[in-house]
Amino acid sequence: MDINKLVRPNILALKPYSCARDEFKGSARAFLDANENAFMHPYNRYPDPLNMDVKELIAGINGCRGSQIFLGVGSDECIDMVYRVFCRPGVDNVVAIDPTYGMYSVCAAINDVEYRPVPLNADFSLDADRVLAATDSNTKAIWVCSPNNPTGNAFAYEELRALLERFDGLVIVDEAYGDFNDGESMISRLDALPGLIVLRTFSKAWGNAAIRLGMAFASETVIDLFNKVKYPYNINALTRSQAMDMLGRADEVAALAAEIVKVRGDLATRLAALPTVRRVYPSQANFLLVKVDDADALYSYLSGRGIVVRNRTNVNLCDDCLRVTVGTPEENDLLISALNDYER
Ligand code: PMP
Repeated sequence: MDINKLVRPNILALKPYSCARDEFKGSARAFLDANENAFMHPYNRYPDPLNMDVKELIAGINGCRGSQIFLGVGSDECIDMVYRVFCRPGVDNVVAIDPTYGMYSVCAAINDVEYRPVPLNADFSLDADRVLAATDSNTKAIWVCSPNNPTGNAFAYEELRALLERFDGLVIVDEAYGDFNDGESMISRLDALPGLIVLRTFSKAWGNAAIRLGMAFASETVIDLFNKVKYPYNINALTRSQAMDMLGRADEVAALAAEIVKVRGDLATRLAALPTVRRVYPSQANFLLVKVDDADALYSYLSGRGIVVRNRTNVNLCDDCLRVTVGTPEENDLLISALNDYER
């Protein structure tokens, strides 16, 4: 597969902006190149454009090379990057499983790219034939989210393999919730599959949604293209510093993710015992999709009690479903206690 054949011609021809700090190699005695204010500290200097040291730490944790990593302002920037680099506005299209995370379609609309949703089966499994049938010669990418938001299920490698082997474009596997899943990450398949892009984020298990840091793992060819197109200093110094701190606490993060998985099981049991709950779907993420008698009524009731959940009743295959994030023990107790009162 030749990735460059998928790239928008203007991006392939693009001469990227060259930062002052990109051009100078060596150790400097005076930075008089970037029109910063030399007197104000400590945030007066532009940050590192590529953050290779951060990427090396991430690579060590994920078993890949630093050169296979792009850092974005949340995974949302990585999602947008796929459109900006590969999809010709008004010409190309993408295919995605449905239901799934909403930003794939929002970014498609912003970039004037046709978005083709393909329904999952009723049990939320993937019909690879149906997904592939929706592609044509202008399809640049297939979006898969695993574990999927909002359904909570993960797709096994065997389910994804058909897409990766039979589609001559990019397959993006968004593993935002991958740290809560016992299955293997697709990152280990990168060297064998040039069209694969895996997304991960600091916003979920890493507990740092506020710093806005997402990661795309892909072939060096894709990463070089993303780096060429991104804003020169997309990752700010505060984010970088907090990320470095968190990467030193990877064991603590893994232990907390395991604890959240345990609490998820307890919460599922407690929810399933309530009369208004018809079904708690199995989850490999840090949330539960819960089918209830009347999602709109229950959502309003919970809102009135100051408890905010996500009403997914208008989403395909999710009639009367609420999506509930696993909270602290106190938050979960508050939810269960409100639901108990609702029954009376
Ligand atoms: N992917 C999925 C599947 C998500 O659910 C979310 C956020 N809810 C994101 C990506 C966005 O993550 P980030 O905060 O890294 O932009």
